[in-house]
Amino acid sequence: MQLLFLGTGAGMPSKGRNTTATVLKLLEERGTYWLFDCGEATQHQILHTTLKPRKLEKIFITHLHGDHIYGLPGLLGSRSFLGGDASLTIYGPKGIKAWIELTLLTSSTYLKYKLNIIEIEDGIIFEDAQFIVEAKSIEHVIPCFGFKITQKPLPPQLIIEKTDALKVPRGPLLKQLKEGHDVELPDGRIVLSKEVTGAPKDGFQITLLGDTKYCENSISLSQGADIVVHEATFDKETAELAGLYGHSTILDAANVCKEANAKHLIVNHISARFLPYHLKEMLNQVALFDFPIHIAEDFAEYDWSNGILNKITDSER
Ligand SMILES: [Zn+2]
Ligand SMILES: [Zn+2]
Repeated sequence: MQLLFLGTGAGMPSKGRNTTATVLKLLEERGTYWLFDCGEATQHQILHTTLKPRKLEKIFITHLHGDHIYGLPGLLGSRSFLGGDASLTIYGPKGIKAWIELTLLTSSTYLKYKLNIIEIEDGIIFEDAQFIVEAKSIEHVIPCFGFKITQKPLPPQLIIEKTDALKVPRGPLLKQLKEGHDVELPDGRIVLSKEVTGAPKDGFQITLLGDTKYCENSISLSQGADIVVHEATFDKETAELAGLYGHSTILDAANVCKEANAKHLIVNHISARFLPYHLKEMLNQVALFDFPIHIAEDFAEYDWSNGILNKITDSER
């Protein structure tokens, strides 16, 4: 799994930061990627990456402010134009369906793929054999959601050297062993699944929150998360604005993670008032927390494997 930040700014685009869009790359897990929010010009940002619009499987919208949705119609249209024919599902607050459908209709945009638009409420909004996605309301000036993505435990891997050593014939018996069943070989010997498989691995848990002030639901959604993506529109000096506008400071974001015992924090939705040389000072304000804290940049990509978070690139430009 990788997290790729396409836009990390707040409210309006600036030269350094586009409006919000975050990609959860699940290419190894399911051959697709999921998008969280779609600020204006998200499709332009995608052009600077290796992402193919047709592999976009799901879009999760936290709330209906323009800096989180104005990129949707263009991206949906281009995905069709570029040959995307697999269905696409959008999850978002009440109102998203009417807005998208009217925009596509009035601009005569006809999609060649099936578009499902699901207006969500708090609870589990998606589940399959691999993943569970839970949504919860958080506290902004309009209805807004956070999302918790839980990867289910990964099935144990078959250790082929061990089955070969026990002379298990290749074929259906291997499949049964892999699925946890003990088997009887043609010569009468019993092979136990646990003898020839590795331990099951935990999946990851990542929480992506929309615009919000510090709130209880952010903490419960982030409980035990491997990675939390939390907005930090403001800092210590501008903290009074945060409460006023339903936003957070970097300190609020860190406190959410601390209360939730989360392992890593990445903050996004950074106000344009903060220039690159301010970021060190922002990080200084949370230097006492004992988990890693990153301020996301546009095109920053983080890789998650074997429980370790690594920043793998600054920019694909
Ligand atoms: Zn915003
Ligand atoms: Zn907002």
